[in-house]
Amino acid sequence: MIGFKTENGFLDFSNTDFQCPSCKHEHIEDDYIKKLEKSQHYLVYINCKGCKKKLGLTINYMGDVVVWLKSEEKKLLLLL
Ligand SMILES: [Zn+2]
Repeated sequence: MIGFKTENGFLDFSNTDFQCPSCKHEHIEDDYIKKLEKSQHYLVYINCKGCKKKLGLTINYMGDVVVWLKSEEKKLLLLL
Protein backbone atom coordinates (compact mmCIF):
# COMPACT_ATOMS: atom_id res chain seq x y z
CA MET A 1 0.00 0.00 0.00
CA ILE A 2 1.28 3.39 -0.95
CA GLY A 3 0.07 6.67 0.41
CA PHE A 4 0.50 10.25 -0.64
CA LYS A 5 0.30 13.26 1.55
CA THR A 6 -2.14 15.69 0.00
CA GLU A 7 -3.46 19.06 0.98
CA ASN A 8 -6.52 17.38 2.40
CA GLY A 9 -4.74 14.72 4.35
CA PHE A 10 -3.44 11.35 3.45
CA LEU A 11 -4.50 9.45 0.39
CA ASP A 12 -4.09 5.70 0.19
CA PHE A 13 -4.11 3.90 -3.08
CA SER A 14 -5.94 0.69 -3.54
CA ASN A 15 -5.41 -0.10 -7.17
CA THR A 16 -2.08 1.05 -8.49
CA ASP A 17 -1.44 -1.24 -11.43
CA PHE A 18 -3.05 -0.46 -14.74
CA GLN A 19 -3.31 -1.61 -18.33
CA CYS A 20 -2.58 0.51 -21.35
CA PRO A 21 -5.94 1.46 -22.89
CA SER A 22 -4.48 0.90 -26.33
CA CYS A 23 -2.42 -2.30 -26.22
CA LYS A 24 -3.36 -3.68 -22.75
CA HIS A 25 0.26 -3.81 -21.69
CA GLU A 26 0.39 -4.21 -17.90
CA HIS A 27 2.12 -1.44 -16.03
CA ILE A 28 3.07 -1.69 -12.41
CA GLU A 29 3.33 1.17 -9.98
CA ASP A 30 7.14 1.18 -10.06
CA ASP A 31 6.88 2.40 -13.64
CA TYR A 32 5.31 5.69 -12.72
CA ILE A 33 5.01 6.18 -8.97
CA LYS A 34 8.18 8.23 -8.54
CA LYS A 35 7.15 10.52 -11.38
CA LEU A 36 3.71 10.87 -9.90
CA GLU A 37 5.08 11.71 -6.47
CA LYS A 38 7.15 14.51 -7.97
CA SER A 39 4.31 15.92 -10.03
CA GLN A 40 2.47 18.89 -8.64
CA HIS A 41 -1.08 17.79 -9.32
CA TYR A 42 -0.65 14.02 -9.42
CA LEU A 43 -0.80 14.15 -13.18
CA VAL A 44 1.95 12.73 -15.36
CA TYR A 45 2.50 11.55 -18.88
CA ILE A 46 4.42 8.37 -19.54
CA ASN A 47 5.17 6.34 -22.64
CA CYS A 48 3.58 2.91 -22.76
CA LYS A 49 6.18 0.17 -22.67
CA GLY A 50 4.14 -1.86 -25.11
CA CYS A 51 2.92 0.41 -27.88
CA LYS A 52 5.03 3.50 -26.98
CA LYS A 53 1.99 5.73 -27.06
CA LYS A 54 1.82 8.60 -24.64
CA LEU A 55 -0.48 7.99 -21.70
CA GLY A 56 -1.90 10.45 -19.22
CA LEU A 57 -2.03 9.22 -15.67
CA THR A 58 -3.60 10.51 -12.52
CA ILE A 59 -5.11 9.35 -9.24
CA ASN A 60 -8.78 9.89 -8.57
CA TYR A 61 -10.38 10.68 -5.23
CA MET A 62 -10.88 6.96 -4.62
CA GLY A 63 -7.14 6.45 -4.85
CA ASP A 64 -7.36 4.53 -8.10
CA VAL A 65 -5.19 5.09 -11.12
CA VAL A 66 -6.93 6.74 -14.02
CA VAL A 67 -5.25 6.37 -17.39
CA TRP A 68 -6.02 7.64 -20.87
CA LEU A 69 -4.34 8.07 -24.22
CA LYS A 70 -2.83 11.49 -24.69
CA SER A 71 -4.14 11.47 -28.24
CA GLU A 72 -7.69 11.06 -26.88
CA GLU A 73 -7.31 13.78 -24.30
CA LYS A 74 -9.18 16.52 -26.13
CA LYS A 75 -12.09 14.18 -26.77
CA LEU A 76 -12.15 13.15 -23.11
CA LEU A 77 -12.09 16.69 -21.85
CA LEU A 78 -15.09 17.47 -24.02
CA LEU A 79 -16.98 14.58 -22.43
CA LEU A 80 -16.29 15.66 -18.88
ZN1 LIG B 1 0.24 0.54 -24.94
